[in-house]
Amino acid sequence: MSTVRQALTALDRDAAGRSMMDLAGELYLIPRSLTGDGVRETLERINRRIPLDVHELPTGTPVLDWTVPKEWNPREAWIRDPAGRKVVDFADHALHLLGYSVPVRRRMMLDKLRPHLHSLPEQPDLIPYRTSYYEETWGFCLPHRLLASLPDGEYEVFIDASLEDGSMTWGECLLPGATAEEVLISSHVCHPQLANDNLSGIAVAVHLAEALAAVPERRYSYRFLFAPGGIGAIAWLARNRDCLDTFRHGLIAANLGDAGAFHYKKSRHGDREIDRAMAAALAGLGEDLVAEDFFPFGYDERQYCSPGFDLPVGVLTRTPWGRYAEYHTSADDLSFIGAEALAGSLAAYLATAAVLEEGAVRSNAEATSSSVRTRSPAVAASAAGRRYRNLEPFGEPQLGRRGLYGGLGGAGRRDFEIAMLWVLNQSDGEHSLDDIAERSGLPPAVVGEAADALQEAGLLKELA
Ligand code: ZN
Repeated sequence: MSTVRQALTALDRDAAGRSMMDLAGELYLIPRSLTGDGVRETLERINRRIPLDVHELPTGTPVLDWTVPKEWNPREAWIRDPAGRKVVDFADHALHLLGYSVPVRRRMMLDKLRPHLHSLPEQPDLIPYRTSYYEETWGFCLPHRLLASLPDGEYEVFIDASLEDGSMTWGECLLPGATAEEVLISSHVCHPQLANDNLSGIAVAVHLAEALAAVPERRYSYRFLFAPGGIGAIAWLARNRDCLDTFRHGLIAANLGDAGAFHYKKSRHGDREIDRAMAAALAGLGEDLVAEDFFPFGYDERQYCSPGFDLPVGVLTRTPWGRYAEYHTSADDLSFIGAEALAGSLAAYLATAAVLEEGAVRSNAEATSSSVRTRSPAVAASAAGRRYRNLEPFGEPQLGRRGLYGGLGGAGRRDFEIAMLWVLNQSDGEHSLDDIAERSGLPPAVVGEAADALQEAGLLKELA
């Protein structure tokens, strides 16, 4: 096999599917989080298959508008009921412990304990996945049916976990090609014991790296990034912001093991080579593809596609996050993903790489220019409406610490928060608030309110 196309043709889907399920099974019980030994062990196991450079960045290191958080390592956590029985135990399921819980050992009455217990009344048999990365607290997640059955009385809660200065870990595998031009495949590695939302993306990325490594004639260099979601991509961008001139195409791999149809979320501009390559690749495989326009939340495209970086990064999933009932619950287990679906996803990624390698969907502009901007001139600003410039355009600014996100007052309203993300992403001087309201589908009043709040926080500047 000398080309990626030939590697695709020769792909043994049965064997690849089994191997991806094996890897998912191997990683399933490792207690991953944003930081800590679970991430390290996950990367160590990936490194047994593909060569990884592992990076550690100390707690407190400034990265773009953020800082690397404390490192969290859970060891033991449980709740004993008034009769002394362990009714919730981290040893039974990693989702039982609220991610980033601080240590606690205390006896408390059920009504005092209740605010620390999280459940899903609509899905009473499932354990939800919850974290509290940026607010120090503790908690447990449990099936609602169990919560509802707990008798009144005094409970004992115990969490043995460390939350202290340490570091954040991520891994990269670079496969050099004939040119330094890079394709980035990015997967998050921060979810504990969840199969489709996390392990499927890791498994496909690892096997794609293995398949591409076996191809001697590659034009592109391929970089595989395994980093915690959000802050990991922010840190990677912070460390690499001066060497992005070789960045050509990017894809985010997640939710690739369920039985749903392929969904592709386009890059910010929607008309980049990666966007065309994806459509061509899936058509070539005879697979249906639901293509969707970019929106500024979801996975790490919200960082890569922030207006300062504006990288051509798309997201190929099967069923997107939040659109399947098992999402972020204990039902997203190994039985929810399948070898056949994973193999089909691997083929889709390999086919996309083949199209990129062949350059079949390049435009002349992209073939000759290293940094393409399909910008329309901002001079003839026709539509009415205010325009702003995002003053923190590299990655997402930390809204929480400015009291704009998830807090009290105006914040905490979902449409307002989404409107802020839209305004930040689109405020590159080219889009008015009217444009943003139209593109986002949000009420213009909410978009205006978001812009006012961001301007007040010093994140936006109104343009003349
Ligand atoms: Zn997730």
